[in-house]
Amino acid sequence: MGALTDEIFAPERPGYFGSFGGAFVPEILRSTLDELIEVFDEARADESFWPEFLQVMQSYSCRPTPITYLENLTREIGGAQIFIKREDLNQTGAHKANNVMGQGLLVKRMGKRRVIAETGAGQHGVATATMAARFGLDCTIYMGAVDVERQRPNVFWMEQLGATVVAVEDGAATLKDAINECLRDWAYSMEDTHYALGTACGPHPFPQIVAYFQRIIGLESREQMLACPARLPDRVYACVGGGSNATGLFLGFLEDPEVELVGIEAGGLGLSSGQHAARLAGGMGVPGVAQGYKTYFFQNDEGQMQHTHSVSAGLDYIGVSPILAHWHECGRMRTESATDAEVIDALKLLMRTEGIIGALESCHGLAGGLREAATMDPEQTVLINMSGRGDKDIFTIADALDDAKWKEFLRQKVDKL
Ligand SMILES: *Cc1c(COP(=O)(O)O)cnc(C)c1O
Repeated sequence: MGALTDEIFAPERPGYFGSFGGAFVPEILRSTLDELIEVFDEARADESFWPEFLQVMQSYSCRPTPITYLENLTREIGGAQIFIKREDLNQTGAHKANNVMGQGLLVKRMGKRRVIAETGAGQHGVATATMAARFGLDCTIYMGAVDVERQRPNVFWMEQLGATVVAVEDGAATLKDAINECLRDWAYSMEDTHYALGTACGPHPFPQIVAYFQRIIGLESREQMLACPARLPDRVYACVGGGSNATGLFLGFLEDPEVELVGIEAGGLGLSSGQHAARLAGGMGVPGVAQGYKTYFFQNDEGQMQHTHSVSAGLDYIGVSPILAHWHECGRMRTESATDAEVIDALKLLMRTEGIIGALESCHGLAGGLREAATMDPEQTVLINMSGRGDKDIFTIADALDDAKWKEFLRQKVDKL
């Protein structure tokens, strides 16, 4: 490990990454966060823990996921050689499995029998329900009532997997309200319940725990790139929602100063439109404390949280990992954005040239990577994280592509009811 990695896993001020992070929580949650810190510290000091995690991921989630050279797309773009890391091949179709399975192992160590989680688009809910089924845990998922209506396919799967889905009617009935309700549950249930937070955000120790498990993406990637094409990439790209897949990939290359780390946020209809979810790119966010931690939030000058917009539900979040906020501020990571239109074009190109259906979230990293690869030399290489697959999101993607035959299919289905 090097100095930059130590800043994340052994910071001088526990829970802080530069000036970001912390744990701003009601007193009642203090003891359970302390218990979690203790169990996590014990686990990572235990030499058998990481191999146990690797074994679970190999046998249940297809790890190590491959790196694929995109030969056709490279020819089409006419610049740097393009490689992607295939997190789309994980169990439940995204990198989220790395985090939930890891936290599941911590739950077993704590001897708890129930997990709760909040979810916006439902992807983290499905991943958590999957982990709970596999590990024999009770599972409750909190979801805004509006999101429950918008994301029926994911709600369907969570319920089939044995989870109880609670539709939260408070406030705007979306993610933020689901988080509040989930914290309320935890305050009363922490004796036997673990809160499986879904991204590298929230109060300490969550960003550290999520980064610890997601770094499997970066560790594998570095080794794989050194094996073939037998060199480190010049630049690595990842989409940034809460920041867990980006943090995980970047940790593998953090101590290689010649590798540039580029995070791509959701540019929505364009940064000047106000309809986006950029917090770091273009200086759009403002530092502040909310939801238990300090980072850049998408808020106005009065501290009022703004409405985010993105074609991809998974990047639609007001905060961002305090780890990424730190790397952004100290200059280790560059942050850009990709618009909805660029993302849809990148997805279409990926499908047609390579036969790979990427998630809309991941295609932000792809769009940013392709834009820059076009301006680079053929001797250079870029590595882009394909954080998830898109075929499971057929309703969302068919909508984004505005497919007329799909709409007709839905109409006929409805007529048959
Ligand atoms: C949830 C999700 C994301 C966004 O989460 P991060 O924590 O920013 O990684 C990105 N890609 C996919 C496929 C997702 O499901």
